[in-house]
Amino acid sequence: MAEEKFQVIIIGAGVAGSAAAYRLAKAGREVVLIDRGDTPGRKNMTGGRLYTYALEELMPGEWSDAPLEREVTREIMMFMTREDSVSIDTTLSSQKQQSYTVLRARFDAWLASKAEEAGAMLIPGSTVDGLIIRDGKVAGIKTGDEELEADLVISAEGVNPIVAERAGLIKPVNVKDVAVGVKYVYKLPEQTINERFNTVSGKGTAMLCVGECNKGISGGAFLYTNKESISLGLVVDTHSWKESKLPLVDVAEELRQHPALGRYIEGGELVEYSAHLIPEGGYKSLPQLYSDGFLIAGDAAGMVVNRGFTVRGMDYAILSGIAAAETADQAIEAGTFTKSFLQNYETKLKKMVLKDLESFKDSHDYIAHTQHLFTTYPNLAVDMMNHLYKVDGNPAKKIPGIVKETIVGKLPYFSVLKDILKGGKSL
Ligand SMILES: Cc1cc2nc3c(=O)[nH]c(=O)nc-3n(C[C@H](O)[C@H](O)[C@H](O)COP(=O)(O)OP(=O)(O)OC[C@H]3O[C@@H](n4cnc5c(N)ncnc54)[C@H](O)[C@@H]3O)c2cc1C
Repeated sequence: MAEEKFQVIIIGAGVAGSAAAYRLAKAGREVVLIDRGDTPGRKNMTGGRLYTYALEELMPGEWSDAPLEREVTREIMMFMTREDSVSIDTTLSSQKQQSYTVLRARFDAWLASKAEEAGAMLIPGSTVDGLIIRDGKVAGIKTGDEELEADLVISAEGVNPIVAERAGLIKPVNVKDVAVGVKYVYKLPEQTINERFNTVSGKGTAMLCVGECNKGISGGAFLYTNKESISLGLVVDTHSWKESKLPLVDVAEELRQHPALGRYIEGGELVEYSAHLIPEGGYKSLPQLYSDGFLIAGDAAGMVVNRGFTVRGMDYAILSGIAAAETADQAIEAGTFTKSFLQNYETKLKKMVLKDLESFKDSHDYIAHTQHLFTTYPNLAVDMMNHLYKVDGNPAKKIPGIVKETIVGKLPYFSVLKDILKGGKSL
């Protein structure tokens, strides 16, 4: 039996859900934000770095107190073999406050508190089990013995949207469309991090790695510097991981001991270990984004783009939360919650989130199925540098000779050309 009725109920106080709740509360709407965690964000996971344009879009000029870790001013792309590595090390101080590293436990709790301050009702520690559906329209949620009614429900329940699936509003997530992420957080003194990364307090590094870090499995490793900790982890494509038959825990263990990465976390105290799925199917696996009385946002809708050198999901989650809130606000104003009215949500998303998802619709397939990216090419990059810098008393070779020696016999030229052309089209 339903007990109360609200204008909007949001399932999940991750970044998408809290962004939607904040916007709706600011618009003066009665909104309830429900999360299964005792405190929002406690079990949420990201790499990760947040692109701040999305925060600015959400709350212009009002995110200065957000618990952001370090402003990313250095980007490193590292190609690794078992012992060696080659890095493209880029300093971009001119990109003022473009992105910051974040820890979700702090960030999500802050964002949910902002929604609460704005007037949203936060219900933590409560798992939504199902939806109330009346005459084909979503009319509320069920949690345990309780039922709460609403004009509109927004699912922001993350990568495994069981509530929406159970209600038959979306198809079950396909295993081939998700990647698996594993992450460790090591606590280290701020000064030690500054010294190891040759930087100052407040400035940070984002490092993405390919090659031996994943033992040839499609995917990559990441390292982000926080104020007083380092986030280190890896992401693997599920199909490629299954083929490898390697236990992920062993791959992650070797990653932590790799000479090119292990030195950064040396002496650090392991304070967090987590694993999480990432929806990487992209545009091709987008679900129906709206139904009568229902919208779906963020990871629940698969809004992530992984291009190898950038991973974006949190900014899209925030933008989709904003779009869902605006659509809900307009629906309340118009007094209609039909599917045809709610398709405005998709129209709003087309301006940015869906545009990116469409542009990079082949990135997941390219990354997942171009095996040389994770084996041959990192090896070639390291081999080439090894030859260039080698001085061993033998007659020295000129650069074309070194290039020839490195590449010839390793890979047919047409195969490299094909990968380059496909990569150019996909990424
Ligand atoms: C290893 C890894 C690295 C990543 N790196 C980056 C990065 O660097 N930058 C970036 O932008 N993105 C990154 N991403 C992606 C990013 O983390 C996600 O896109 C983002 O967190 C999605 O936010 P969300 O709010 O949609 O979902 P989530 O953050 O997953 O939030 C979902 C919320 O719903 C709640 N919930 C779920 N089911 C229920 C239920 N039935 N009842 C009540 N509550 C429920 C959960 O408790 C949770 O709080 C990374 C992801 C991973 C796994």
